[in-house]
Amino acid sequence: MDSPEYISCTSCSEEITPDSEFCPHCGVLFSEAAKEKCDTHPANLAQGICVICRKLVCEVCGKIVHGRNFCLGHQTVEVRQDWARAFQSTDINDSELVKSLLESNGFKVLVQNFTPMGYAWDGGGDSSISRSTLNKPAKVFVPIPEYIRAEEALKEWKSGEADAGEQESDTSQ
Ligand SMILES: [Zn+2]
Ligand SMILES: [Zn+2]
Ligand SMILES: [Zn+2]
Repeated sequence: MDSPEYISCTSCSEEITPDSEFCPHCGVLFSEAAKEKCDTHPANLAQGICVICRKLVCEVCGKIVHGRNFCLGHQTVEVRQDWARAFQSTDINDSELVKSLLESNGFKVLVQNFTPMGYAWDGGGDSSISRSTLNKPAKVFVPIPEYIRAEEALKEWKSGEADAGEQESDTSQ
């Protein structure tokens, strides 16, 4: 067994192995990989790799958000440490459903704002506590490397849901 030694990424200071061609945490490219061309624009040098889909991106099709490289398709994905947000909703029941769906599909999930208060809210909407809870959407995160698969699983689930019922848009009072 070789014990891997870690060094710090020069860009985000997360731990990486010395032979890494890119940092999986922030998508910065190192030495050899820095000569790679963009996957979409072969004429351009890649400036990084999308941390979500691992696509090489250039200035035109890439975006750096909070020090991490994203492709344009994934620039809005919220990332915390090595977790990516697969779903969020101000309806705790929706988030709870997505969480159990992902879990039953074998995903590791991390949740945020799944407060007990959220469960207590029954749609009455006149409690100040429930309102403040509602302002924070309940978020479901999956490990970044599993994001793409999780997204597909949710897409499949949603297309099945579409027949079952109308999507209730804003239930503003
Ligand atoms: Zn990094
Ligand atoms: Zn991407
Ligand atoms: Zn490009």
